[in-house]
Amino acid sequence: MSKLVKNYNRKKISFKYGKGSFLYSRNGKKYLDFVQGIAVNSLGHAHPNLVKAINNQSKKLWHVSNAFIIPEGEKLAKKITQKTFADYVMFQNSGAEATEAAIKVARRYFYLKGKPSKNRILCIKNSFHGRTLAAIYASGSKKMTEGFGPRINGFDHFEFGNHQSLKKKINKNTAAIMVETIMGEGGIKVIPDWCLRELRKICDKKNILLILDEVQCGVGRSGDFFAFEKSKVKPDIVPIAKGIGGGFPIGAVLINKKVAPCMTPGTHGSTFGGNPLAMAIGNVVMDIVSNKKFLKNIKNISNYFFLRLNEIQKEYPKIIKNIRGKGLLIGIQLHTNQTKFIKKLMENRLLTIRAAENVVRILPPLNVKKNEINQACRIIKKVCSEIK
Ligand SMILES: *Cc1c(COP(=O)(O)O)cnc(C)c1O
Repeated sequence: MSKLVKNYNRKKISFKYGKGSFLYSRNGKKYLDFVQGIAVNSLGHAHPNLVKAINNQSKKLWHVSNAFIIPEGEKLAKKITQKTFADYVMFQNSGAEATEAAIKVARRYFYLKGKPSKNRILCIKNSFHGRTLAAIYASGSKKMTEGFGPRINGFDHFEFGNHQSLKKKINKNTAAIMVETIMGEGGIKVIPDWCLRELRKICDKKNILLILDEVQCGVGRSGDFFAFEKSKVKPDIVPIAKGIGGGFPIGAVLINKKVAPCMTPGTHGSTFGGNPLAMAIGNVVMDIVSNKKFLKNIKNISNYFFLRLNEIQKEYPKIIKNIRGKGLLIGIQLHTNQTKFIKKLMENRLLTIRAAENVVRILPPLNVKKNEINQACRIIKKVCSEIK
């Protein structure tokens, strides 16, 4: 009998080891892993460079307090600022911590500007920003907040794609608009580039900060280092996590130079955040994923995957409603509940995971191979033909 709290509905399967795109179960079965810990293992399982990095660092130094300089963190922060919009970085351990810190930064910024009541954060209804108290109220989902009152104040919501409702919800106390550039849990819904540009314009006009939550869609997942990159929009604050650690828990808040100075000594902290072991690994992930050729390859393989999936959709339009997403953050939206479909995929040794709106979410490692995509497509096709 499991002594773990039942806050998860766990599948009756466990794994012995993983290699690249594959997981090997304890009862000797080989699975094609297109979940990768929910977009966490960006380089697949047991990537040799990551194994080497963790081995080397583990012999030298695991953890020291942020009361001291941590060169590995300095190095990673420098790399991130050289490759992105960010001027400063604040390391955390998880996505929820990073979004929570992003909220703190936005509020603190206006507090120091002498506008303490400009503290409300405007978010998309039924989005996902993590499971801390502030993050669940930011997400604005009834299911996530039920039973966890009193509610955390300071969050307003608009409907995805409803520009009228967005404009109506902005007032003089709006400090920030915080959205996922691509909604992950919410069903792989991409905010179009022109909408991002429109958001930036509104924020500039009304003196509001733009927070783009790239915890799931960032760090190469979209085919660009950030999902907002092609839009040319420059956000003020970007929380990241999942992919940057390649399987090791790392979160970070990326901040521009206008906003970052509001965080002075003592305003925020994290005991584990940015420790040497985490940073040694983050540096290796960053080196690989931020490489132009690597990103180009994600785009190519993604184009191929979408092409194949759209063919399958055309063949089975009564089962698959549409294929959505960007890069290697892909959703197969079904006409009906996806539970059985996901189970069938798993029986055929392909691991996927659900998202809202009947979506089967597909998250291969960013270095996935073409033949692995072919294998996945064969399984998806087979399941379509059997489920009909
Ligand atoms: C997963 C996720 C989070 C929360 O990350 P945790 O590491 O689970 O706390 C926040 N925002 C987005 C967009 C996510 O996908």
